[in-house]
Amino acid sequence: MSETTPSVFSKIVAREIPADIVRESDDIIAFRDIQPQAPVHVLVVPKTAQYSQVSELAASDPALLAQMVSVAQDIAEEMCDGQFRLVFNSGEAAGQTVFHVHAHVLGGNLAEGSLAQR
Ligand code: AMP
Repeated sequence: MSETTPSVFSKIVAREIPADIVRESDDIIAFRDIQPQAPVHVLVVPKTAQYSQVSELAASDPALLAQMVSVAQDIAEEMCDGQFRLVFNSGEAAGQTVFHVHAHVLGGNLAEGSLAQR
């Protein structure tokens, strides 16, 4: 991501564009995906735009990555009985479209085939 062009997620953090926010802390924001691929589809996003992919985040700030996982668990407890799939798309060929690291929290009857390929 270019440092001069804020990502769509940075714009959500700055309240420049609206989102259905479900959780927020000093370091993390979580909101519903605008194009849900499952009954529960929430994005967990560090507020910092410093990292574009999860491997960079894991190497530089593992505590923040652990916080993301914890937030994902909390959301799943509230929305889908604590059971969820956690997806990090890394790279264009893997389907990443926003280069500001984020986790997809997917839940709700995934075992019954309701999840589109992500
Ligand atoms: P990825 O393809 O892994 O980079 O995921 C980016 C996700 O961001 C996609 O699932 C999009 O539907 C979602 N998305 C893009 N813009 C917005 C937005 N303004 N509000 C909520 N979700 C968004």
